[in-house]
Amino acid sequence: METASKLPFGGPNQQPGVRIEGESDAPYWRRLSLAEMSAEQWESLCDGCGRCCLNKLEDWDTGDIFWTDVVCRLFDDETCSCNDYSNRTTRVPDCQPLTPDNVLQLKWLPPTCAYKLIGEGRELYWWHPLVSGDADTVHFAGISVRGRTVSENDVSTEDLEDHVVDWPGETPGADREAVSAVAEGD
Ligand code: SF4
Ligand code: SF4
Repeated sequence: METASKLPFGGPNQQPGVRIEGESDAPYWRRLSLAEMSAEQWESLCDGCGRCCLNKLEDWDTGDIFWTDVVCRLFDDETCSCNDYSNRTTRVPDCQPLTPDNVLQLKWLPPTCAYKLIGEGRELYWWHPLVSGDADTVHFAGISVRGRTVSENDVSTEDLEDHVVDWPGETPGADREAVSAVAEGD
């Protein structure tokens, strides 16, 4: 990949997958469009995977996107969250907040991103904390980046190509039962 450029980031929210009090039988992400969601509902839709905080490369010739395991300098690999979410766009000018208008335009969002799924009229996966009721299922299912990134502070832009990985573009096949067994130490 001789002609590739680094793409901007997205950003996981700070309280992903928090259930909203007073939901009716049909949860809000099935009833409302992205544009109709309140700020609280919008923030809660994030699954906390952190995939959007990875550095991406775009091939100039083909437009293909390549994810890397190199993560934004503000990302905490242990908590799988941004260290300064409130000031993220000031601290990291490349950090591009998601909005109802841009979600479907950002081709570097991972296919598992909850905003992308709902924007495309699809359903959330079982591991999403809003569906599972457990904030850890996004980690146990192998969706999150927790524990498998290196900071961009330690990798030069010229070396990003050496860190290209496939897993941020994949949807792991582990089923709910297998993941539950791992979580319970069976
Ligand atoms: S500034 Fe925070 S939210 Fe934005 S890409 Fe970096 S770690 Fe993610
Ligand atoms: S990829 Fe989407 S669901 Fe995952 S952390 Fe980023 S905004 Fe949240």
